[in-house]
Amino acid sequence: MNPTEEADVIVVGAGPAGSTTAFYLAQAGLDVLLLEKSAFPREKVCGDGLTPRAVKSLVAMGVDVSEEAGWLRNKGLRVIGGGMRLELDWPELGSWPGYGLVRTRASLDEQLARRAQAAGAKLLEGTTVTGPVLNEAKLGILSAVIISTGLTWVVFHGLEKLSPRTRLRALLGTSMSVTDLAVPVDPERDHIRGPKKDALVTLVEYGDFECPYCGQAEPAVRGLIREFGELRFVFRHLPLTEVHPHAQLAAEASEAADVQDAFWEMHDMLMDHQGALTTRDVVGYAASIGLDTDKFSADLRKHVGAYRVAEDVDSADLATVSGTPTFFINGIRYYGAFDLAALKEAVHTAKARAVIGAR
Ligand SMILES: Cc1cc2nc3c(=O)[nH]c(=O)nc-3n(C[C@H](O)[C@H](O)[C@H](O)COP(=O)(O)OP(=O)(O)OC[C@H]3O[C@@H](n4cnc5c(N)ncnc54)[C@H](O)[C@@H]3O)c2cc1C
Repeated sequence: MNPTEEADVIVVGAGPAGSTTAFYLAQAGLDVLLLEKSAFPREKVCGDGLTPRAVKSLVAMGVDVSEEAGWLRNKGLRVIGGGMRLELDWPELGSWPGYGLVRTRASLDEQLARRAQAAGAKLLEGTTVTGPVLNEAKLGILSAVIISTGLTWVVFHGLEKLSPRTRLRALLGTSMSVTDLAVPVDPERDHIRGPKKDALVTLVEYGDFECPYCGQAEPAVRGLIREFGELRFVFRHLPLTEVHPHAQLAAEASEAADVQDAFWEMHDMLMDHQGALTTRDVVGYAASIGLDTDKFSADLRKHVGAYRVAEDVDSADLATVSGTPTFFINGIRYYGAFDLAALKEAVHTAKARAVIGAR
């Protein structure tokens, strides 16, 4: 593939979802590139039995679903298991066909990919995407990174000819990358450890005090803060209330402590005692860090921190964060492991990017 190939949209993977997406985008007039690592026809681990709902989607895409075109029709589902046998006819609904379909698994995906092509999408088979080129994405151009011996040779031999600083910039990119954090850090509002402003690296955590993974990540976060004096660490709330019954109370307890300027002391207490987060427990922690417990309890009862917690949750939603802990390093979502070594490496890279970007 030409590494500077341009498109309005690049769809990765020509499975049923990718091809259908490419089909509709191309039909809407967009310039679409559909990249598929394998080649058609290909064998796939799938039965390709299709329900009436799926049949309707095929028909909408202009696929010929006649028996002459190789499709087998069926009238319903037969489920056999656990000593039971169930037979269910497909429902008779005006909006859906009254039949399902079956065809060999080697051909369904190819048919859909060909429909995408017919609608105008450009399909490149045998093209494995290894990641987005973020700097170029910022300029509105996305190019798929293809691993090929030739390209690797050109890249490495080209890099040798660059000056050390330019080579570093080429390898790391600049600090101006696509930003994932939807609501930027606000030094006047956010809970911050480390320098409030002018930090080269800002690490944002969306966390839940009752989440065991946040607890496991906490020593790594503390290690980072110890090692990188200039790191700015921001904690935002994302209590996963459906699975953690005490998470909301704990989040509000940290905010009630914040009223007495002790957010971080309470944060650490809660992270260190994830298994004991009842009202009684958190009031005990308030006492042990020297807070006015009457005021703390009253603030807790009045839910003084609830609004702020909700604001953090909204900001997580905007960034499509739904699990904890989720980290952002200099605004970019971090997908690596939560151990100190992995986080350190990511922070080092972000710092190097920031340094060369600042020059
Ligand atoms: C055993 C089994 C039986 C099934 N039977 C049925 C059935 O009878 N009926 C039914 O409706 N569903 C069935 N399914 C489910 C069905 O297979 C999936 O729902 C469907 O394939 C999902 O489509 P998709 O496009 O989201 O993903 P996929 O079909 O997985 O497509 C993803 C595509 O992306 C490509 N790709 C991945 N990474 C890259 C990359 N880095 N660069 C480029 N390309 C990439 C892959 O090669 C693949 O073509 C079955 C699944 C299994 C496992």
